[in-house]
Amino acid sequence: MALAERMFVLQYGAERVSKALSLAGGDPGHLYWEPLVGVLVETSAGWVLFDTGMSRRNHDSVEVERVYRGADAPSAAERWHLRPAAPPDRSTWGLPGEPLVAALAPLGLAPADLALAVVSHLHWDHTGGIPALAGAGVEVVLHADELAWGRSGLARFDAGFDAADWTVPGTRWRTVDVETEVAPGVRVLPTPGHTPGHVSVQVDLPATGTWIFTADATDLAQNLLDAVPCGSCAGGSPEDERRAAASLELLLARARATDARLIPGHDQVVLTAIRHPPGGHR
Ligand SMILES: [Zn+2]
Repeated sequence: MALAERMFVLQYGAERVSKALSLAGGDPGHLYWEPLVGVLVETSAGWVLFDTGMSRRNHDSVEVERVYRGADAPSAAERWHLRPAAPPDRSTWGLPGEPLVAALAPLGLAPADLALAVVSHLHWDHTGGIPALAGAGVEVVLHADELAWGRSGLARFDAGFDAADWTVPGTRWRTVDVETEVAPGVRVLPTPGHTPGHVSVQVDLPATGTWIFTADATDLAQNLLDAVPCGSCAGGSPEDERRAAASLELLLARARATDARLIPGHDQVVLTAIRHPPGGHR
């Protein structure tokens, strides 16, 4: 089996969202700070990125803030109970400037240094760096069903999709349909349900073994511990909910089979616990 070389875990920012979005049956009145996560893997084929955070434009957008302050938001006192530190009047925070660029800079990298990027799905907290990747000519891997969903007109702004991120002319899309090793030691795993073409990523490293990053198939450790599927399915049908449950089972089974570290997509405690050591995880 091909192995990657080393891996850095990135945090672009965070967002304060209803727990009902993360956990099926979760409390819609319970707001929760969730990190915006990236994974950067060095392989023999170059640097591969998984997920790109939120754009500066959307971190600063009044319209985006309005969506976060949706009708089911609780009292202002609860809404603005902030951990970690963020501007007191906002539902998101991000690294200065373009968060993707800011997250790569301490590692001495810029978007143009990437060989490839994989995007889990088209929600705006994952697609913010795609314009920078398009500008740098970096190929972007997306599931074919997700690109079709984006182009269907059903991926609406008020549901967390910003077409401006993924309609930049010249974006070099590379679509996948099935499990695919996109670079040595980096496998894209289709895990639909949260969105029609959601994917997770498996990274195989020489010293620390297998890691599986689930993105929004399981936002929180609690999804995995209690085997609770994601709380929101953009497609909105019972079939989407069935797919979300099947994706959770697939991730748990794959982790058992590979003795993997299974990393939920938006859990600050887990993310903080796996911060990369100097030089990255090997
Ligand atoms: Zn999402």
